[in-house]
Amino acid sequence: MGYIKENIDFVEEKIAAACERSGRKREEVLLLAVSKTIDVPRIKEAVECGLTSLGENKVQEIMDKYEPMGEGVKWHLIGHLQTNKVKYIIDKVDLIHSVDSLKLAEEINKRAATKNIVADILLEVNVAEEDSKFGIGTDECEDRVREISQLPNVRIRGLMTVAPFVEDAEENRPYFKQLKQLLVDINNKKIDNVNMDILSMGMTGDYEVAIEEGATIVRVGTGIFGARVYPDKAQ
Ligand SMILES: *Cc1c(COP(=O)(O)O)cnc(C)c1O
Repeated sequence: MGYIKENIDFVEEKIAAACERSGRKREEVLLLAVSKTIDVPRIKEAVECGLTSLGENKVQEIMDKYEPMGEGVKWHLIGHLQTNKVKYIIDKVDLIHSVDSLKLAEEINKRAATKNIVADILLEVNVAEEDSKFGIGTDECEDRVREISQLPNVRIRGLMTVAPFVEDAEENRPYFKQLKQLLVDINNKKIDNVNMDILSMGMTGDYEVAIEEGATIVRVGTGIFGARVYPDKAQ
């Protein structure tokens, strides 16, 4: 048995246990395999284990891997997206997790319209207010949702956050709780066309806590593929 299969089995056990602890169904949580920097043969191993939803943080990597990976996989863009790159991926991705401005949403709307599709997006929220992170503040969230909800070719499916890098996952529990509460509060405003059902939160270090707090997508890279080697840093 290859290490990728072993890793996935381990993560699956942890996910099942976290669901059990919090009285949730396993089907409520999507395990998104974060395949950034990982080559196609290794990604295919994960797909063979049933992980058909793949997360990339760069437009270029989706472009490079799109053809070789072929049909039967779904791409999610999880990293910062520049408006001038929307056109390259608009009809390749299932969900854009990282919308952090009205301007970007407007560009997605425009490009989606030319392809006659409605693009599913999440708003990225910088819940922990880290200077180093992308994402809007929790205080701007409702206003952005209201504005974006007016765009006919964009559908706001929910919220996403990249929590701080911490030793103890428990430290991120308050941020996950906050993001969930924000989603509930905004849904309760009954804004036209807004009924958010996706919470993308939790990574290798803290996905169990995120699931306990209501995550519907956990984004796991290292836990599946092992430590990443970045080409520019490799000697
Ligand atoms: C890289 C990345 C992940 C996965 O991180 P791991 O710690 O390797 O699981 C999740 N979300 C985003 C936005 C990322 O860029």
